[in-house]
Amino acid sequence: MATAGKVIKCKAAVAWEAGKPLSMEEVEVAPPQAMEVRVKILFTSLCHTDVYFWEAKGQTPVFPRIFGHEAGGIVESVGEGVTDVAPGDHVLPVFTGECKECAHCKSAESNMCDLLRINTDRGVMIGDGKSRFSINGKPIYHFVGTSTFSEYTVMHVGCVAKINPEAPLDKVCILSCGISTGLGASINVAKPPKGSTVAIFGLGAVGLAAAEGARIAGASRIIGIDLNPNRFEEARKFGCTEFVNPKDHKKPVQEVLAEMTNGGVDRSVECTGNINAMIQAFECVHDGWGVAVLVGVPHKDAEFKTHPMNFLNERTLKGTFFGNFKPRTDLPNVVELYMNKELELEKFITHTVPFSEINHAFDLMAKGEGIRCIIRMEN
Ligand code: NAD
Ligand code: ZN
Repeated sequence: MATAGKVIKCKAAVAWEAGKPLSMEEVEVAPPQAMEVRVKILFTSLCHTDVYFWEAKGQTPVFPRIFGHEAGGIVESVGEGVTDVAPGDHVLPVFTGECKECAHCKSAESNMCDLLRINTDRGVMIGDGKSRFSINGKPIYHFVGTSTFSEYTVMHVGCVAKINPEAPLDKVCILSCGISTGLGASINVAKPPKGSTVAIFGLGAVGLAAAEGARIAGASRIIGIDLNPNRFEEARKFGCTEFVNPKDHKKPVQEVLAEMTNGGVDRSVECTGNINAMIQAFECVHDGWGVAVLVGVPHKDAEFKTHPMNFLNERTLKGTFFGNFKPRTDLPNVVELYMNKELELEKFITHTVPFSEINHAFDLMAKGEGIRCIIRMEN
């Protein structure tokens, strides 16, 4: 509490330029303003979204910037008007918030908050349009309202989920983004009935989490589809029972799956971002009841083409953002799934590095090695 209301000097990994290794700097972190919280980050992990915006190929370059959005930490101090969290609370930052007041937040069906929905181009706080990070008075920009590659960060209170303080932050930090997205795509959106057959397209972190969700929901066959066969062995740990590599077949993968499943799968979840896989994921579901869920973020020029008869034949196509979880309301319950040993997180964590070696986490992701690398802020 001695630091409340004061500027904190701490270490942060700053991206000065697109694609250049992050550089460890001493930054000044201003106190939280109205409806903001300052959080001491203990663990953070690297997700593809950080890399896309750090590379800034086809995205608006916003530099210098502090990336990071999957993390776990402890509230250090709170700004005016904050009543939901207090210093000492354990929290997960979330890149897309929940104001609890807009039409989306009030709807039981939506998690796309009007006020705090992800905005990848904004590098400042929404309250006053300023950054809370600086070096010698020069502002350093925020990323998706979280900027967790810093020992301390400031967030809107709507972008932090207060969780069970018993939960190990070095494990549950990965629930901030990709793992919850895949999990929620299965359990909240695809909702596979017990004993059903589910196809998962793309076996990266998101797809493996979708497989884990299908396993938790009680699916009995989980078919993993990926162009990279190196993914298959690992995917068994996440409940995948069978594999299809589209490259091994002359026929379209929809036909291969229809033959394997007597007409089509009950549910499919697409986690690739590839438009062909999205169309295949829809066309491989059984007529009459099949549901396909799109999760991957497509190329900006992609167009989804399928014959309308596929819909008339009673197939359903859905899409989801952050697995339809309302971040503040639902994430604490996802943490409880882990605490009750229904959800396994350890198997997603393949590497750990100290904060000083954060660039190594970028190298691992570039090489496609492992699933999640945890970055420890304290040695
Ligand atoms: P990843 O790159 O680790 O995994 C994608 C996998 O898909 C790879 O193993 C790749 O070999 C496979 N693949 C690519 N094209 C394929 C094809 N045509 N057929 C079969 N397999 C194919 O990515 P990830 O981190 O797991 O993320 C997956 C997707 O989810 C990305 O597009 C990401 O942007 C998106 N995402 C969406 C949300 C959301 O809220 N909707 C949130 C986070 C991530
Ligand atoms: Zn809202």
